[in-house]
Amino acid sequence: MNITALVVAAGRGTRAGDGIPKQYRALYGAPVLRHTLRALLANGDITAVVTVIHPDDLSLYQNAAAPLGDPRLQAPVMGGNSRSQSVANGLAACDGDVVLIHDGARPLLPPDALTRLVARMQTAKAAFLAVPVNDALWHGNGDQADRAQSRENLWRAQTPQAFDLNLIRAAHANSPEPMADDVAVARAAGIAVEIVMGDENNLKITRAADFALAEKIMGQNMDVRTGNGFDVHKFGPGDQVTLNGVSIPHSHGLVGHSDADVGMHAITDAIFGALAEGDIGQWFPPSDPQWKGAASDIFLRKAIERAGARGFTITHLDCTLVCEHPKIGPHAAAMRAALAEITGLDPDRISVKATTSEQLGFTGRGEGIAALATATLVKI
Ligand code: MG
Repeated sequence: MNITALVVAAGRGTRAGDGIPKQYRALYGAPVLRHTLRALLANGDITAVVTVIHPDDLSLYQNAAAPLGDPRLQAPVMGGNSRSQSVANGLAACDGDVVLIHDGARPLLPPDALTRLVARMQTAKAAFLAVPVNDALWHGNGDQADRAQSRENLWRAQTPQAFDLNLIRAAHANSPEPMADDVAVARAAGIAVEIVMGDENNLKITRAADFALAEKIMGQNMDVRTGNGFDVHKFGPGDQVTLNGVSIPHSHGLVGHSDADVGMHAITDAIFGALAEGDIGQWFPPSDPQWKGAASDIFLRKAIERAGARGFTITHLDCTLVCEHPKIGPHAAAMRAALAEITGLDPDRISVKATTSEQLGFTGRGEGIAALATATLVKI
C-alpha cells in the first residue's frame, strides 16, 4: 500500500485573528504547518506529502517546510477558490493507492491515531478519525434552549480522512459544492466510510485562543534541551574573516580547515551538544580533504537536519564572540539575518553579541577569536 498525505493549507484563517494565515503562525517557535508536516512524516508508511497552499504563501511554506529536510515532501500545489477545489488540485498531484487528506491547522496529530487510521486502510476503501460527542446537545432558538438532540451515534470528524485515491478523485470530480468535508464528498458518491477512533488532542486551530490550548497540549510531553558550543580559531594571513556567515574586512584572516567561521562552529556544536550527537569534528573530520575551505553553513545545516530527524525544533540560539578586533557590533544584525536564513528561525530568536577579554589572554593579545554558543531545542 502506497500512501500519500495531502495537507490542505490554502485557507486564510480569518477566524484566528489578524496577521499571517494561522497555519504559518508560530507554535513553540515553529510554524503550525511545520508541526503538522512533521507529525505526518513521523509515520514511516507515508511515502509522500503534498501540501496545497495559497499562491501568496510560497515563501511562508518554504520557511515552514524546508527545515524538515525530508525528501518525501513534494513541491507544493496551488489551491483554488474553495477548500473543495484546493483538495481537487491536490489530488491531481497525488500518487499511489491511498491518500490521507489532512488539515494544515491540525499540528497535534497523535502518532497512535495516525497508525490506527493507516492500519484500517489495509481493508477499508475510506476511513477517517473521529471522536464521540460527549456533551449534551441542544438546538437553540436565539439564546434560548429549544430542544435536546440525542448524541447517540454522533461523532465529531477530525482529519486525516483516508481514501482510495482513485475513488476520491472520481468523487470530487462529480461533487456538488459545498460539502462539509471529504467524508461528505465520499458519502455523496456512495462510498462506504469507516470511523476510526481519533484523539481529543488532535485539535484544529481555528480561533486565536486555540494557540494557547495547543501549546498547553504540546507542553505535556515536551523535551527541552540546551547545548553549549565553544570554538577558537587563530589569526593568520588574509584580509577578511567570516563570522556567522558574514564576511568582514580585517587586517588578518582566520586559520582553519574550513572557512574558519568560529561563531557558526560554536553554534553547530551547541546543537550537536543538545542532541548528544558528538561534535562538528566527528561529523566532519578535519582529516577529510573535502571540507577544506568549506563554507561552514554545511556543518550548521547538518546539525539542523539531525535535530529535525530526531523531532527537535531549534527555538533559540545565542552566540558570543570574544575578540578585540574586528568590532562585531556593526555586523551583528547581518549575522542574525544570515543565521535566520539558514535555520529558518525568526531573527528575534537568534542572539549575536560580543565582548573583549580586556586585552587578557590570547584573544586580548589579538592572536585569535573565540566563540561560545548556546542552543535551545524543543521536542513536542
Ligand atoms: Mg572550528
